[in-house]
Amino acid sequence: MNMGIEPFLVATSVHLICAQRLIRRICKECTEPVDVPVQTLIEEGYSPEEAKTIQIQKGKGCGVCNNTGYKGRCGLYEVMEVDDEIRELVLVGASAVELKKKAIERGMITLRRSGLIKVAAGITTLEEVARETIH
Ligand SMILES: [Zn+2]
Repeated sequence: MNMGIEPFLVATSVHLICAQRLIRRICKECTEPVDVPVQTLIEEGYSPEEAKTIQIQKGKGCGVCNNTGYKGRCGLYEVMEVDDEIRELVLVGASAVELKKKAIERGMITLRRSGLIKVAAGITTLEEVARETIH
């Protein structure tokens, strides 16, 4: 719409919007738990309850990963379905901020949240997610 496309055309033709980032996976051969202060976890986007229970992992580096601590990549995704409520907002010319807020209310997982889930699952590091996504 910033490029001059009519809102009704966007509202009727767009079904889904997807953003993605590639992040590095922790090397399976040298992954190990690391202690991260609860406050840091909260600052990165975890809830206080989550921050108390998750265990962060990191690759310490080995021959398999060339001492980088990473081996392979995986994707982070943010998928916004243009449902009736989002479509209404598009039609009235809502801002990107308003659209994002509504989408999150409607269950959208942001890129950052997608990353935090993968960090909590030991797939990647907090550093990778902090570098590739915004708060
Ligand atoms: Zn390794």
